[in-house]
Amino acid sequence: MINQNEAYGVFCEEYSGARTEFCDLAQKLGAEVHRFEHPLSETSQDGGFGIDTARFGPPDATKLLVMISGTHGPELLAGTAMQLHWMRNYSSEREDDEAVLLIHAANAYGCAHVRRTTENNVDLNRNFCDFASSPKGTELSRSVQHALCRSSKTGPNTVRAMLDLRYLSVRHSKQAVVEEIASGQSFRPDGIGYGGTEPEWANKTIKLICEAHFTKARKIAIIDWHTGIGSYAEPSFLCFDEIGSPEIERARLWFGERAANNNADFASGERPSYRGLLVRAVQDIAKRLGAETTALVIEFGTYSNTKMLTGLLYDRWLQNPPKGAKSSAIAEIESQLSKLFYPTDPKWRESVLRNGDQIISETLNGLGKW
Ligand SMILES: [Zn+2]
Repeated sequence: MINQNEAYGVFCEEYSGARTEFCDLAQKLGAEVHRFEHPLSETSQDGGFGIDTARFGPPDATKLLVMISGTHGPELLAGTAMQLHWMRNYSSEREDDEAVLLIHAANAYGCAHVRRTTENNVDLNRNFCDFASSPKGTELSRSVQHALCRSSKTGPNTVRAMLDLRYLSVRHSKQAVVEEIASGQSFRPDGIGYGGTEPEWANKTIKLICEAHFTKARKIAIIDWHTGIGSYAEPSFLCFDEIGSPEIERARLWFGERAANNNADFASGERPSYRGLLVRAVQDIAKRLGAETTALVIEFGTYSNTKMLTGLLYDRWLQNPPKGAKSSAIAEIESQLSKLFYPTDPKWRESVLRNGDQIISETLNGLGKW
């Protein structure tokens, strides 16, 4: 049972406090801690930012659990909570041949600035792609981005954007429009879901971290913690492996049918075909180095799809504020964005912790028996 004090203890309220808590606790517990300072960290007024890693267990362990937080900035603190929870409750229970690697604030810029994207408005979770074969925008994808980018000095023009999207949904289909918003794009640098034209600093740093830690591991479990998709305070399991593959069968064995039914939590009934996912890149590195993987993205649901689309508009506007944007509007929208992806509701946090604890426990159990 998880009590209320425990629940409040792992949920931090902002990035710098979370970073300190993560590094201090890991050090106290004897982990090997590394800090990868972001190139823009020096210009930060709040004590800097970067990707931090904590490794527990022997360097030659053949089994490894990797838990990643902060691929999208406003979602960081739920992932931090999972990492702190593991450290507090499970770090002393490791088997001799097991190691755990915690990667904190994968998109360090976004985490420090409460933005989904990186310093270049790139969605890090669309940036691990083959840039040479990135699809050029179609007429529909350009129209969708045009709608999403409608804005004024006080914020995104949400009403107009929604009307445009509704019109496009009638002309094409809802599924086609959702696909355009979610799958990622490479032609509009100030748009939503922009994958960039080259690997971001965070992308390169995460690859370096994984390559350094995966050399001896042969069985690697990976969880990338997110928020925003699915029912309020409930976890959604996203496995990106082929149906019928050993990876997805293992996920089914560890977590049950919910890990093998990827489409259930998408309003359009089908999961968009995302390009450039971080978790896939981490799996690819593991496989290249001779390891098998069981990999999951866990989403803790927050609000309705329409509300979360507004969140994407807020994020885009904050990253690309029009000339003369009011500082009061920026502060207000930033606060709303944060609450959409990280609710302050104690019931949400209690459920996230309870479900997260179960997922961690099932993962460790699966890894142990693997
Ligand atoms: Zn996310």
